Amino acid sequence: MKMNDVTKQHRNLIAGEWVEGADVNENRNPANTDEIVGLYARASKDDAKRAIAAARAAFPAWSKSGPQQRHDLLKKVSDTIAARADELGELLAREEGKTFAEAKGEVMRASQVFGFFSGEALRQTGDAIDSVRPGVEVMVQREALGVIGLITPWNFPIAIPAWKIAPALAFGNCVVIKPADLTPGCAWALAEIIHEAGAPEGVFNLVMGRGSEVGAEILDSPEVDAVSFTGSVETGRMVARTCVAQMKKVQLEMGGKNPLVVLDDADLDTAVNCALNGAFFSTGQRCTASSRLIVTAGIHDRFVEALTEKLRALKVGDPMDSAVHIGPVVDEGQLEQNRRYVKIGQEEGATLVCGGEVIEGDTPGHFMTPALFTGTTNEMRINREEIFGPVATVIKVADYDEALRVANDTDFGLSAGICTTNLGHAAHFRRHAEAGMIMVNLPTAGVDYHTPFGGRKGSSYGPREQGQYAREFYTTVKTSYIQA
Ligand code: NAD
Repeated sequence: MKMNDVTKQHRNLIAGEWVEGADVNENRNPANTDEIVGLYARASKDDAKRAIAAARAAFPAWSKSGPQQRHDLLKKVSDTIAARADELGELLAREEGKTFAEAKGEVMRASQVFGFFSGEALRQTGDAIDSVRPGVEVMVQREALGVIGLITPWNFPIAIPAWKIAPALAFGNCVVIKPADLTPGCAWALAEIIHEAGAPEGVFNLVMGRGSEVGAEILDSPEVDAVSFTGSVETGRMVARTCVAQMKKVQLEMGGKNPLVVLDDADLDTAVNCALNGAFFSTGQRCTASSRLIVTAGIHDRFVEALTEKLRALKVGDPMDSAVHIGPVVDEGQLEQNRRYVKIGQEEGATLVCGGEVIEGDTPGHFMTPALFTGTTNEMRINREEIFGPVATVIKVADYDEALRVANDTDFGLSAGICTTNLGHAAHFRRHAEAGMIMVNLPTAGVDYHTPFGGRKGSSYGPREQGQYAREFYTTVKTSYIQA
């Protein structure tokens, strides 16, 4: 297995050159904070400006390069990621903290995303329409937008960059990406792969660093045509305000407070496994995590008992240990936030059935046991605000109608799930749950790579990501009228 060299500074990729940053970021392992995963350059505003200028300069040739060249590049990236899956999975587990199995799965997802969009590069679609004026023909085609700024979060450090970079390049755009400062390693490895696969100079640029410096430059630059952002609601709102003021196209994916409804007629094992996976795997650090478990009275006690038993059996620890189910929380700040919400839940009168304790591992890391609250109401802060950790709540309701009402009573609308054996309730929920993605007898987290991803209300803004729907954001429509 190829390991990351911890003495090497991983530099930014600007105009096809590896460039030192203004500062160096020590990327540390959240499961062992004594361990430096790697040293990563932090770009300055000027570095970001140069990256944006390089992308602008590369755009005319790249946007006219033709689909074969773009297909070949993306296919090569997809194949290389897959070939390096073990090494990249280990890097991901060590910088972000999800278990090696989850991390390798995320790496393979990135490979699949590039594979999918290598095909999309070839599947250019358009329309030929007869004009209402005799002798005139109308053609509708999609064209690249220009320079796309990508700003990504820490929790999916390779999959999210992949599902933004791949469609951007497939449709002929040039890219400047700023990954999260907490997890630059996977984005750097992806940049190396894209560079070595032969991306022409300036077509793809990586500028690692802080949001307030590098991210702000991407948002403010008049040379950036569109911004795709994934991260918190607070930052996302600011990104939207800045982009709209400059009339930049913008796409936001933000937080969630996703409900999983469990009805009396649910298969108990299915419901418990959906809750366990959806709420707690990947240390609960998923925007699609089932943080609110809305359970009808007839199954409530059996469900809580079975889920608690499974939670107590989960092993928290080093993500590289194959016996471990839940890795560390990503950093000290997130751990503090989780602890604060556990305290808030107790002060609000909820019952902490299990977990919520910070524990010591074999190495100094941010370990916390998965926490389950019962006796909660949907008005409590723990049910209204995104915690983003291994913490879930149970809200007891009388029946399906109340469950649906509570599920929809939230500022968010990313994913919503239901566990039931009643086809009528499942169909009604699919129609009436106010979320972008609906899961029936499946965890709220866990989506395909070739289907649209995104939500409603406070969770998302702008066109969907992924699958064929990604075309909507990464291209613009041109209508031509032709008289022969
Ligand atoms: P964050 O908002 O703190 O940071 C996201 C990115 O924005 C980072 O790259 C950060 O450096 C950058 N940024 C911060 N300040 C900026 C500024 N002033 N200007 C420009 N860029 C700036 O989010 P995070 O903590 O990295 O990620 C966790 C959040 O992401 C959670 O809320 C989670 O729900 C959300 N998320 C959403 C999805 C989704 O698809 N809906 C997926 C994953 C994560």
